[in-house]
Amino acid sequence: MAPARPRTNEPSSTSASIQRRALELGFDLIGIAPAERPAHAAFYLEWLEHGHAGEMAYLARADAVARRLDPTEILPGARSIIVAAINYNNGDHGPTDDGSRPVIARYARGVDYHLVFEDKLERLADSLTDLSGGAKSRCYVDYGPVLERDHAQRAGLGWIGKNTVLIHPDAGSYLFLGEIITDAELSFSEPFLPDHCGTCERCIEACPTGAIRAPHELDSRLCISYLTIELRGPIPRELRPLIGNRIFGCDICQDVCPWNKEVPRSRESRFQPRDNITGLELIEFMSLTDGEFRDLYSDTPLARAKREGLLRNVAVALGNWGDPAALPVLLGALDDDSPLIRGHAAWALGRLENPKATEALEAHLQQESDTWVRSEIGFAIGGEPAGDELANP
Ligand code: SF4
Repeated sequence: MAPARPRTNEPSSTSASIQRRALELGFDLIGIAPAERPAHAAFYLEWLEHGHAGEMAYLARADAVARRLDPTEILPGARSIIVAAINYNNGDHGPTDDGSRPVIARYARGVDYHLVFEDKLERLADSLTDLSGGAKSRCYVDYGPVLERDHAQRAGLGWIGKNTVLIHPDAGSYLFLGEIITDAELSFSEPFLPDHCGTCERCIEACPTGAIRAPHELDSRLCISYLTIELRGPIPRELRPLIGNRIFGCDICQDVCPWNKEVPRSRESRFQPRDNITGLELIEFMSLTDGEFRDLYSDTPLARAKREGLLRNVAVALGNWGDPAALPVLLGALDDDSPLIRGHAAWALGRLENPKATEALEAHLQQESDTWVRSEIGFAIGGEPAGDELANP
């Protein structure tokens, strides 16, 4: 894919060399933006103020906000931001209609992208140091204090869709982004100015939880990606049925986007789906021990949810499946050390509407000491908390 075009009136051999080097390293898109305050800084502050970041308190910390809004707070003297993207489209939509199988976000079906992206970005930064005669730089891959989509748009990589994701007209939106903030003086790419969403609102209409409240306005607290990955406590009960069989992340707002219809496949073999991620049934996931989880997933994005978070999500998916075949693993999960897993397993057992499940829940209530789990059992048995108010485990 061609690099974004540098301004012709600001020729820079360093910029051209960096863009060539990025393509050699396997990046699919590359552009260069000035190290300025992001265009949507005010919108970002408003978004935080409305609490749309949910439990992601790290986003609202004063020092992190200051660095997000001013790249020179990250690197004094910063002049340029190199923005790079890698396509992770592995072409696999997952078994969405088979309730016995999980759906895992496309980006999370292979190796942890940080391991791939960071290595390439650091090698690109090394080239920049050589080419520029010692420029200083800092690399970030999504966890850094950077409003990366703003910088990507300014670097010519695409527009920000109504689903809040960066979209390139040829590459679509299944893209990992990373940045190098540098004090090197580089020539900048043309910003990407058109907004190709037009009158389309497919992503807004398709989101099961209504998380895209308005064009470009995502309420993380409702987003299935947030609920299944970032949220550490219980998933709000009213949202559980809407999650279906999604146990880690969600691609719905990208899958329905017409700009992702005919996009190229990823050239990176490490992003291809792994059997131990896409080949397991929900029941098999529910049986994972701590050790098995670590052995199988420590180098994958699933590690972020930890076993506790993943099995919480699997319990919800089993409840949504509602098949009696889920009974044995859910009964086993009532004895898990984690109250979070026990509580969601209780909810799922309630969804089975099976006499054996009810009997087991009633028996378990006699020995369960955790207040929140007791309330979930009460709800599962009779639709009401068992004399205790909801509380986080
Ligand atoms: Fe824009 Fe439509 Fe894609 Fe949403 S689905 S991001 S509105 S083009």
